[in-house]
Amino acid sequence: MNIQLLYRQKYKTIIMISISRPPKALNEPVKSYAPGTEERKLLQRTLDELKSKHTDIPMIIGGQAVMTGNRKEIRAPHDHRQLLGTYHEGDKTHVRKAIENALEARERWASTSWEQRASIFMKAASLISGPFRYKINAATMLAQSKNVLQAEIDAACESVDFLNFNAEYMANIYSEQPQSLNKTWNRLEQRPLEGFIFAVSPFNFTSIAMNLAAAPAIMGNVVVWKPSPSQIYSAKVLMEIYQAAGLPDGVINMVFADGAEAADEALAHPLFAGIHFTGSTDVFKSMWTRVGQNMNIYKSFPRLVGETGGKDYIFAHPSARAVEVATAISRGAFEYQGQKCSAASRAYIPSNLWPEIKCHLLDDLKQFSMGSPEDFSNFINAVIHEGAYDKLIRFIDQAHNDPEVEIIAGGRYSKDHGYFIEPTIILTKDPKYTTMHTELFGPVMTIYVYNSEDFEQTIDLVDQTSPYGLTGAIFATDRYAIELASKKLINTAGNFYINDKPTGALVGNQPFGGSRGSGTNDKAGSMLNLLRWVSPRTIKECFLPPVDHSYPFLAEEQS
Ligand code: NAD
Repeated sequence: MNIQLLYRQKYKTIIMISISRPPKALNEPVKSYAPGTEERKLLQRTLDELKSKHTDIPMIIGGQAVMTGNRKEIRAPHDHRQLLGTYHEGDKTHVRKAIENALEARERWASTSWEQRASIFMKAASLISGPFRYKINAATMLAQSKNVLQAEIDAACESVDFLNFNAEYMANIYSEQPQSLNKTWNRLEQRPLEGFIFAVSPFNFTSIAMNLAAAPAIMGNVVVWKPSPSQIYSAKVLMEIYQAAGLPDGVINMVFADGAEAADEALAHPLFAGIHFTGSTDVFKSMWTRVGQNMNIYKSFPRLVGETGGKDYIFAHPSARAVEVATAISRGAFEYQGQKCSAASRAYIPSNLWPEIKCHLLDDLKQFSMGSPEDFSNFINAVIHEGAYDKLIRFIDQAHNDPEVEIIAGGRYSKDHGYFIEPTIILTKDPKYTTMHTELFGPVMTIYVYNSEDFEQTIDLVDQTSPYGLTGAIFATDRYAIELASKKLINTAGNFYINDKPTGALVGNQPFGGSRGSGTNDKAGSMLNLLRWVSPRTIKECFLPPVDHSYPFLAEEQS
């Protein structure tokens, strides 16, 4: 831990700084919500409470609620009749206001001691783990159509983990100090970036939305956060939690504006210091391009952190166990309707195992029930919105009409009451078929059955078929096959799994992120991510400064 001395702040307080450490971070235990449990009752009560009222959601800028009167409806994706609330849409003037408020808050926040920052976010973790648990889960279930387990592992547990582990990583980062030779003391300070961070979050994980704003903020940065319109209902709860945890006004500002308009404004500011983005690859590329165009405007080189799309695979070797592969596909492809960036959406199955795997898979899918997340017996819920639904059914219809492929399960859909699409399995004879390489982001898995003699050639197919590199899994009992696939597929996945489904990364256990078209791989939920939000300053202090300019080599030679 770096030793800091007594110092005087501009508020005339004298603070004694000690060398402290935050409590050891531990993963938040996942509650079961089994029938008869207390948590199930409390969650059901919270669902009823939320549904019984219409929530009107303002932007939060400088700690103040900002209402524009331009109200947009929030409806449950699984039930069009269920109007949950409205939010006040803003525009670039609100983004500008949020930037001004963030920059006003910056000096005081950046100079606040790290223990205070850690305490605020660890308190937020405790609030999510305790009094806000059911509210954040219920909001995520209703507005993002997640079943109770998916909401619990995301909104409650992963949020708590991000917050607690980030506090620990921050302390570790500050403790990392250089050596000091020859009567000097070398110190490393981790300065917050000079400006504001623009955080832009996706719809699919409440915890990601939380972390995109909170990770830069815990490191002393100020943030303008633009959540996805489809996650605003739970984003509001996150803001309530930050405020209840005592986060000072202006440190995180939440704006609801069109993404491109917000980006135009934020990325044109001289003090724009970084993007913290999760979402689709094209959106990130468009922001990166804009940053390049604006490069001469900025005071510093901005940090660009983006975790983007995926075309994640399950690859079975002829030695794999069929039931394990089938289970990994059932869970890995269809949980949360395949709307996880890590969701498996292409599989390579050897011909010797296909009959057995197919049998298990069709059996699993028969047992999936689909409907509202409020009915806890439903494994599958709705996809997020009409745009996603329309895109997905286009690919399903194309598969229905293509003689080269066969839909062996699912393939039906309806948006009469909500955006429901059956978990669908497409079997293709063409390993480069469109759904083997295009990210669909829904409950559609495409399977290619390869000749079990051709394992090595199939490795090359896995490597070369998709532009992404997010997650992937090899299933085998043959250790040489695992070794070969691990080596040859080194660039296909930032998160690689052996005999496990490629989803469900746990903070502190499997830092998450991919390369190629899947992003900058800055590993959310690890120290690597936090390092992007600081700029180190090295300080060298000399205890005995030299008093003679000459060096021994200058001395005259003795004859
Ligand atoms: P999206 O790209 O449509 O939206 C993400 C955010 O960007 C939203 O807030 C949206 O409003 C905003 N946005 C849209 N257009 C914009 C523009 N032109 N400029 C700036 N911002 C803009 O993504 P989504 O549908 O919310 O989420 C799904 C995508 O996210 C998938 O591609 C998925 O793979 C990816 N994802 C990746 C990870 C990861 O860790 N790699 C995690 C979750 C989701």
